[in-house]
Amino acid sequence: MLKRLLFVLLLTLSLHAQIHITVDATDAPRKLFRAHLQMPASAGPMRLAYAKWIPGEHGPTGPITDLVDLRVMANGQRIEWRRDPVDMFVFNIDVPKGATSIEVDLSYLSPTGERAFTAGPSATANLAVIAWNTLLLFPPGKPADDVTVTGSIKFPEGWTTASALIPNSETATQIDYKPASLTTYIDSPVLIGRYLKKVAIPSGTAPQHRIDIVGDSAAAIETWPSFAQDYSRLVAEAGALFGAYHFRKYDWLLTLSDDVAHFGLEHHESSDNRMEELTLQDYRRQLGGLLSHEYVHSWNGKYRRPAGLLSPDYQKPMEGNLLWVYEGLTQYLGTLLAERSGLWTDHWYRENLAVVAAGFDQQPGRTWRPLADTAVGAQITFGSPTAWSSLRRGTDFYDEAILLWLEADSIIRQKTNGRASLDDFIRRFHGGESGFPALKPYTFDDLVANLNAIAPYDWRAHFNERLNATNPRAPVAGITNGGWKIVFNDTPNDVTAANEKRREIYDYTFSLGFSLRKDDATIRDAILGLPAANAGLGPGMKVIAVNGRRFTREALDAAIAEARDTTAPIEILAQNGDFFRSYAIDYHRGVRYPHLQREESKPDVLAEVLKARR
Ligand SMILES: [Zn+2]
Repeated sequence: MLKRLLFVLLLTLSLHAQIHITVDATDAPRKLFRAHLQMPASAGPMRLAYAKWIPGEHGPTGPITDLVDLRVMANGQRIEWRRDPVDMFVFNIDVPKGATSIEVDLSYLSPTGERAFTAGPSATANLAVIAWNTLLLFPPGKPADDVTVTGSIKFPEGWTTASALIPNSETATQIDYKPASLTTYIDSPVLIGRYLKKVAIPSGTAPQHRIDIVGDSAAAIETWPSFAQDYSRLVAEAGALFGAYHFRKYDWLLTLSDDVAHFGLEHHESSDNRMEELTLQDYRRQLGGLLSHEYVHSWNGKYRRPAGLLSPDYQKPMEGNLLWVYEGLTQYLGTLLAERSGLWTDHWYRENLAVVAAGFDQQPGRTWRPLADTAVGAQITFGSPTAWSSLRRGTDFYDEAILLWLEADSIIRQKTNGRASLDDFIRRFHGGESGFPALKPYTFDDLVANLNAIAPYDWRAHFNERLNATNPRAPVAGITNGGWKIVFNDTPNDVTAANEKRREIYDYTFSLGFSLRKDDATIRDAILGLPAANAGLGPGMKVIAVNGRRFTREALDAAIAEARDTTAPIEILAQNGDFFRSYAIDYHRGVRYPHLQREESKPDVLAEVLKARR
């Protein structure tokens, strides 16, 4: 019996590629990471791949440029490698006779500067986020679920670590993790840092939840007194919405630094969230929105994923056509759960909805580019510049889908006379049995069938129209059916004001039709058809003076106020490269911001949508 077991065990081991990786992160403050890998090999040609298509990044964003100092050894001898001439992410080696394994040394140069996602800045003097895909090579063509990885990280003295990976042992400067699949490792980044704390979130009968915070200072990781309690409501509201948790435990990894890339990246049992150093003091609501969005992804994106977005060996190209569900429904549910759990107020939710709806409603790009193309083209829309973004369109499948799913909710309520709502669809589609992480891919047909099971309707034609036809106006039926309307007045929109502060911009999107960088008054975008663009101004020009006076925000606001209800234009002196010119903006309606206002003749359905379930 024992022999037989041993035989089965050996057979299983031989079928599974095993990679041992030791990461030396002791040079993290210099943004230099070294790795030593060991894996089985047999004599003859062998290919080694670097992860190219990164889950959640929706593009071929693996930072291959920053993989350096690559050396391969077999039988104690250095062997040559050659890069594939077509695929930059694949290396060819020839394993010598008698070798049963190879050893690989490599370094990853974590960049500074503007790059996005995990390929962006990830290390400072006090912390680092280690994404395993940046340090791993593995045989291509094999499903990552079938490759076992055992990993260790050496880190600077005085630092500690956090991750969803399960530790095997830990010393003051090294952590060894238990073996897991390549999928799980790449899905489980590790925080290391000098200022790191783990906050347990009370989760009742749900699996254990933690927010692991690493920051560039002790002050950065100081939470407010009700922090854990506030986020426990998010856990409860998610449970009430989805009806199941598809993870063993969940860790929000939160990095607070001005010197790392700022974004969120979802994983199944954790998420990599990066914001400014003083976020806990300055940006509580934005933090709530981000953590809620990435948390929703554990269900919508990880547990349920569009079939086209699977890339089992990180080399197969992804198809983004259902990103309006993967990201768009997550954006919708992320804002909804932030509100239901109290991380957002009702007012904040409505202010955000007003900005989204009013913004798309005046966006020239929607006259040529259907929403579906922003998703199909995600590989290119993510990196597209701010200049002319209103004409180009960007990753609109996130925010426009807030309107689409709110509208879908209102249709379900209408068709079922209020007996069902989108919540019922969510529970059906994302619920099921709680337990270990699992992946259930879906297609557009599956989505339509599941919506039809909740409320019979021609969902296929409905979404085809919303996604593939062009329409200059935004789909705002979810707002109007919800008993609200979009109005404009001179009261600043709270979400716009917060974004101005965080993004360091001056936002005149709904008046002059442009926005400026705070540091040098460069025009970020000018919206075709609106006053600034009509006057001839465009992105990249710098505003130097307003009505003959050096530009300040106060001077521009005063000029807009003076021009109100007159016929005199606002004179802008702008610099375009080495050249200066005056532009006359014909605008007389004063500062304008969008808000939602109750339509008293209709029931307040939106209030029903927003009502906490717990
Ligand atoms: Zn997302």
